[in-house]
Amino acid sequence: MSGPLTTAIVGSLPKPSWLAEPEKLWSEWKLTGETLVEGKQDALRAAVQEQERRGLDIICDGEQTRQHFVTTFIEHLSGVDFTQRETVRIRDRYDASVPTVVGAVSREKPVFVDDATFLRSQTDKPIKWALPGPMTMVDTLYDRHYRSREKLAWEFARILNQEARELEAAGVDIVQFDEPAFNVFHDEVRDWGVAALERAAEGLHAQTAVHICYGYGIKANNDWKATLGAEWRQYEHSFPLLQRSSLDIVSLEGHHSHVPMELIELIRGKKVMLGAIDVASHDVETPEEVAATLRNALEFVDAENLIPSTNCGMAPLPRSVAQGKLSALSAGAALLREEMATARG
Ligand SMILES: [Zn+2]
Repeated sequence: MSGPLTTAIVGSLPKPSWLAEPEKLWSEWKLTGETLVEGKQDALRAAVQEQERRGLDIICDGEQTRQHFVTTFIEHLSGVDFTQRETVRIRDRYDASVPTVVGAVSREKPVFVDDATFLRSQTDKPIKWALPGPMTMVDTLYDRHYRSREKLAWEFARILNQEARELEAAGVDIVQFDEPAFNVFHDEVRDWGVAALERAAEGLHAQTAVHICYGYGIKANNDWKATLGAEWRQYEHSFPLLQRSSLDIVSLEGHHSHVPMELIELIRGKKVMLGAIDVASHDVETPEEVAATLRNALEFVDAENLIPSTNCGMAPLPRSVAQGKLSALSAGAALLREEMATARG
């Protein structure tokens, strides 16, 4: 995992159409029982092969074994009743019917550890595994038990830490926590969000990452983005706190987004997983476009610490588009590496 411009995607890839209906989130599985287990493994294997064949350096599972990046983890916990649904406002942006916290939350057994073990068996390259972050989990539920977002977040942080330690033991090199909620609830990020995240990452020898974004390219997110103005400075709230935190890597949007590149200065010293691929567009970037985005970032981060990546997950994209974007990402990084080698003479 060393060397300049080591590439990695944020997480999800489209699922094959025989496993789940493509181009949508929350897609139902088309298989059941043992056939589903085998189907998920075949899809994961294909996701690994596509990433390797297209030149990615750090490999992930493409989130092929989960329906949703937050809900699937919560489904495995006790204390949450999925039959009792309440409508709440998620990310302060759109209403959704969500499950209810009815008692103390706990993890009775590992959630993703078998899947991560399988991923480990499929590649010799470094592997990354994504988990939801505590605040984003809290923001996806109705809480009738703790009646405190902070208390519930600390419980989730403890549970996430159990899972993360077992993922590490299964051979995961980077544990990533997805915290899109960090771009919305700035006071909570300051008061307990970063602390809860550090609790989730506590004691890990694996590298730890936090992914903060403006969401998948779905309508509710695109409508919200239209209200944010010409410059998106949301990262300005979380980055100084993360710069002082124990997290090793910060994953952010950087391409076709209105995020001013100089905000990366606020996380100086951290590894920066920079989105150089727009996941809200079906246009496949050229290697030159990817290289240009990355080149702009080099003013604020050393190449050794820059991880070329995607703005967010690619689950809702057509498969051919996502695959094209994988190739564009590694080709863009290669272009910039060559350029840097030439400049050094
Ligand atoms: Zn994201």
